[in-house]
Amino acid sequence: MKKKLLSILVCPSCKGPLIYKSRKKILICEKDKLAYPVRNGIPVLLESDAIKI
Ligand SMILES: [Zn+2]
Repeated sequence: MKKKLLSILVCPSCKGPLIYKSRKKILICEKDKLAYPVRNGIPVLLESDAIKI
């Protein structure tokens, strides 16, 4: 995933920054303790698809 794209991604829940974990291919919101999946290089920023961490 491109760095530029990552910098504009925000959590759909709290609008906070997301941290990309390339090894697990997830985007993490530390505030909400949610992990958003990245499928085929495309981040899926849907609360319904987020995983509690
Ligand atoms: Zn959040």
